[in-house]
Amino acid sequence: MKTVDEAADAQAFPMRGIPQPTRDQALTLPQVHLSRHPVVAHKMTRLRDKRTEPPEFYRLVRDLGALLAYEATSDLRLEPAPIETPLEPMTGGRLAGGVGIVPILRAGLGLAEGFRQPLPDASVGHLGLRRDERTLEPIEYYNQLARSSNLQVCFSVDPMLATGGSAIDALNILKRYRVPHLRYVALIGAPYGLLKLRQAHPDVPIYLAALDERLDDRGYICPGLGDAGDRQFGTL
Ligand code: URA
Repeated sequence: MKTVDEAADAQAFPMRGIPQPTRDQALTLPQVHLSRHPVVAHKMTRLRDKRTEPPEFYRLVRDLGALLAYEATSDLRLEPAPIETPLEPMTGGRLAGGVGIVPILRAGLGLAEGFRQPLPDASVGHLGLRRDERTLEPIEYYNQLARSSNLQVCFSVDPMLATGGSAIDALNILKRYRVPHLRYVALIGAPYGLLKLRQAHPDVPIYLAALDERLDDRGYICPGLGDAGDRQFGTL
């Protein structure tokens, strides 16, 4: 039986004493795409800097969303598209099937806006999940998803893959809605959350801008960038 103090401690520091895999171990996981793009690394450094104020922080999240969208769509299928240029007919290519984007509210909003820059025709669903600060368990508070079967791919986007709880829950919900061809995109992953997500959804490719070292006792990614929602929306 825990004392009152021990119970309060466990609520405040849910990751205390929980073993975490190393970054090197996480790097061996299959279907994990870690960006190596220098522009991504450059923008991530500006993003992490504590001196970066919310307006710039939001712009950077949006830019990084657009860059990750390029990386995470590089293998999409095309179908032939006959057109006429001003000079002559030709057969081009267009994406075979639609693209879906599902930001996890609220921190996923900036990333989703970035994804829409190269993909303006994408449909956008919204999923409201928040972390219970004490247990770190995800709580679903909003759900606006379309049951769409003609998608070629659907990206679930959230900047921080920390404990993996929200990511796992979001993908469970999307699968329950029979959303096909899921991919998961985050800016920063922690080895712990990456392993949990890989184990829970081995079929879902994961795209990250960076993979950090560990979670602190409160479940924050280190070195990380702090609270991605607060920093985007100025609610610090
Ligand atoms: N969510 C955040 O916004 N930051 C973290 O470090 C972990 C979860």
